[in-house]
Amino acid sequence: MLQTPPESAVILFDGKDLSNWVGRDGGEPKWKVEDDAMIVEPRTGDISSKETFTDHFLHVEFMCPDMPEASGQAKGNSGVFLQGRYEIQVLDSYGIEVPGKGDCGAIYNQFAALVNACLPPLHWQTYDVIFRAPRFNDAGEMTENVRVTALQNGLVILNNVQLPGTTAGGADSAVAKPGPLRLQDHGNLVQYRNIWAVPLPLEGSDQY
Ligand code: MG
Repeated sequence: MLQTPPESAVILFDGKDLSNWVGRDGGEPKWKVEDDAMIVEPRTGDISSKETFTDHFLHVEFMCPDMPEASGQAKGNSGVFLQGRYEIQVLDSYGIEVPGKGDCGAIYNQFAALVNACLPPLHWQTYDVIFRAPRFNDAGEMTENVRVTALQNGLVILNNVQLPGTTAGGADSAVAKPGPLRLQDHGNLVQYRNIWAVPLPLEGSDQY
């Protein structure tokens, strides 16, 4: 998939610094930046983009640490929270035959990845995500759920799944509002790089 952001992209992290991010409670982000990547600084909290999004396309690259002694949710855990509310799991799930709802590429505890697209730890991987925010009628009632389509390393892992709600650990339940991209500190030294998003119009024109 796209490695180079189009001109319309909002660059969230280009390898230089965390100036587009805030840390826990809106404070300074404490994660480290090294070799064009940002690295989770364990127990300093999640970080969030200053920019917020409604419908958008997201590109993010991540790399899990090598933790051969660890297993399950303790192995290279982090996460990409769309709008700060819906987590696409980041985990070292390399080699797992049938990925589950807690494994890498899952909408956490809602939808498992369709296939295991994971590369081994210490390899850069990509997520390319199309996020469609929920829709509401004039009375403020939700008429269409959030939808997510995602590719991991170029393979489709989520095909237009409709989310019943936010995932555990979501920032808030104000689902009608735009939200930031949030990256999870789950205590493991996961790295991220080359993060950008393209805001999408809510619909095209009605012209033929
Ligand atoms: Mg996680």
